[in-house]
Amino acid sequence: MLTIPGLCWLCRLPLACPAWGICSRCSAALSSPSCCERCGLPAARGVTQCGRCLQNPPPWDKLIFVTDYQPPLNSLIHRLKFTATTALAPALARLILLKVIAAIRAGSVPKPEAIVSVPLHSRRAWRRGFNQSALLAAPLARWLQCAYQHASVRRIRATATQHKLSARRRRGNLKGAFRIEFPVAGRHIVIVDDVVTTGSTVAEIARLLKKQGAATIQVWCLCRTL
Ligand SMILES: [Zn+2]
Ligand SMILES: [Zn+2]
Repeated sequence: MLTIPGLCWLCRLPLACPAWGICSRCSAALSSPSCCERCGLPAARGVTQCGRCLQNPPPWDKLIFVTDYQPPLNSLIHRLKFTATTALAPALARLILLKVIAAIRAGSVPKPEAIVSVPLHSRRAWRRGFNQSALLAAPLARWLQCAYQHASVRRIRATATQHKLSARRRRGNLKGAFRIEFPVAGRHIVIVDDVVTTGSTVAEIARLLKKQGAATIQVWCLCRTL
């Protein structure tokens, strides 16, 4: 598909505001199912924390996502990552922004003070040439006037590919893999990733942020998968 500036990435109709990238009709159609506000997994409507989170809460406070990993968002993420269509990143970041603004207005999350992005394996970053989480985090930080540095979380140890490991081994695999390199004590922090699947990577970073005294931790992503 050809990129024509001024057309919506999804319906190809002219945009009222070319900078949006995705028109308001297509954005509004990207709805998420009723889910737990903490882990983002399916839950009954009106439930802020599911039974799993009440029993065994994740190390973050809130998770905000746009949709499940499904069409049309999954194919846009695929294009961003694997065809290096980096021009898509601000349009995708804006979808997260719309959800975040709604949550801040509803009083369900505090306005964040600093944003961090999940770092890639250095080998993968070198091959791909960019980190999609950083491409999403940078415009979000600019729009929300938050502190952001792409190297504020560093991967200090190469890890095995997560999806081949069991949940327990995943956590062990990530232990000591990251280092936080900015002051977090007492601040409202957000971790941005493109897709959260098991959540073990964002959980490891959230644990570190909590250990260093972060006031609250939110996770923002485009898609949450089961
Ligand atoms: Zn559209
Ligand atoms: Zn939950």
